[in-house]
Amino acid sequence: MKKTSLKWQIAFYLGAFAAVLIAVIWIFQMFLLQPMFEKSKISSVRKTADTVSEAILSSSDDLNEAIYDISVQNETCVRILTSNMNVIAGNSGCALYRMSGRELRENIDSAVKNGGSYLNTSTDPGFEMDGRELKEITYTKIVEKDDELNVVMVYTGITPLNATTNTLRSQLKWITLIVIVLISLIIIVLNRKIALPLSSITKEAARLPDGAFHADEKNNQYLEAQQLNETLEQAADDIRKADQAKRDLIANVSHDLRTPLTMISGYGEMMQDLPGENNEENLQVIIDESKRLTVLVNDLLDLSKMQAGRITLDLKDFDLAELVSSEIRKYDVYQYNESFEFEVHLPEKAMVHADEKRIEQVFNNFMTNAINYSGNSRKIIITMTEENGSVRTSVRDFGEGIDEKDLKNIWDRYYKVDKQHVRFSSGSGLGLSIVKEILDLHDARYGVSSNKNEGSTFWFELPLIQK
Ligand code: ADP
Repeated sequence: MKKTSLKWQIAFYLGAFAAVLIAVIWIFQMFLLQPMFEKSKISSVRKTADTVSEAILSSSDDLNEAIYDISVQNETCVRILTSNMNVIAGNSGCALYRMSGRELRENIDSAVKNGGSYLNTSTDPGFEMDGRELKEITYTKIVEKDDELNVVMVYTGITPLNATTNTLRSQLKWITLIVIVLISLIIIVLNRKIALPLSSITKEAARLPDGAFHADEKNNQYLEAQQLNETLEQAADDIRKADQAKRDLIANVSHDLRTPLTMISGYGEMMQDLPGENNEENLQVIIDESKRLTVLVNDLLDLSKMQAGRITLDLKDFDLAELVSSEIRKYDVYQYNESFEFEVHLPEKAMVHADEKRIEQVFNNFMTNAINYSGNSRKIIITMTEENGSVRTSVRDFGEGIDEKDLKNIWDRYYKVDKQHVRFSSGSGLGLSIVKEILDLHDARYGVSSNKNEGSTFWFELPLIQK
């Protein structure tokens, strides 16, 4: 399903936010203002009554003055009566003076019945404002002092808020307009800052397959966009490198395939044309070159399968010491014919859980490399040591060694320290990259230490199992 673009999503969410905000303000002003106003009036009436009661109890000298201060503060009018309805103190001109004796009595009686206080809200039909009646609140409180009952009456009127609401409504229209304009501006700015860089990076990223992505600085408006830009640029760089590596690989493979093929066809034709050349030596060259081809093709297939993740390990328990010692025997011919000297230190037993065929391949790679790069020294030490529940197998030679700068590259496909050596070694230049794949699949530790002209030690470690 096609998703809505970021631009519209920003507009939608901010628009919705503005709409909710405006609606909440309208609801508060239009419907909740009156009840809230009433509530605050009632509480101020109660407060006034409480303060006046305190003034009575503390025998304030001038009650009238105290009442005046309090009632002005709370916008109320106050009267203090005796239980016989004689006025003790009060504001002059207070609406309470309009109250009939009967009404006063009713309020006082209700307060007595009610446990000392009574709140009376009523509407005054005689007083209208904008078609709405005035609401009146009368609070009556009985205060007992020196066995005498005093009555505190507090009154306030709530004028209808219609006039106020009208003002508010016109203000709200302006607020709404301002909010809409502001939100529209924010939407435009956010689009510029967030959505635009993203879509321009996406457009540029279409060129990624060619490795042609170029990060534009002006799209780095915020951290995430900058990170995306950098990641894509890195990816483009990797693609370019991979492309180059692919081209190199093809060039290397074709070169390595062509050389033995030229030899085979050359020697074949020579043997065909010159009967005298039809001898065992020349035949051996053809056989050797065919073998080299087979090694190369097999290595390539192996590596590509491993890199595509199509190889699964055939894990089982086996004795690595036994495997190594039987593999070393295969190299005996080098000891006899080419005066190599193998020094071997193996434990009795070293049970591991791994893919036996693949580990054999790893060991043989280390061995052939040690032999190929031994130079004149001809001594090779094979050691297996147990440490911290693991067994480390190492193959050490005393040959030409590897330069520090080449060390990290030798595990790469087709990396050869000295390109001239290609023809002398039987390797395909893929050996160590296959070793790396196999050991990585095993999650094994491995490595090499080497000094130029002093030789190299290649090693790998596998966890021991108790058997
Ligand atoms: P190759 O078929 O060329 O031996 P490898 O992948 O096995 O390919 O090795 C990669 C490169 O690492 C070799 O070309 C060589 O330069 C270097 N190398 C590997 N083993 C040794 C060693 N024991 N001594 C010195 N150099 C080595």
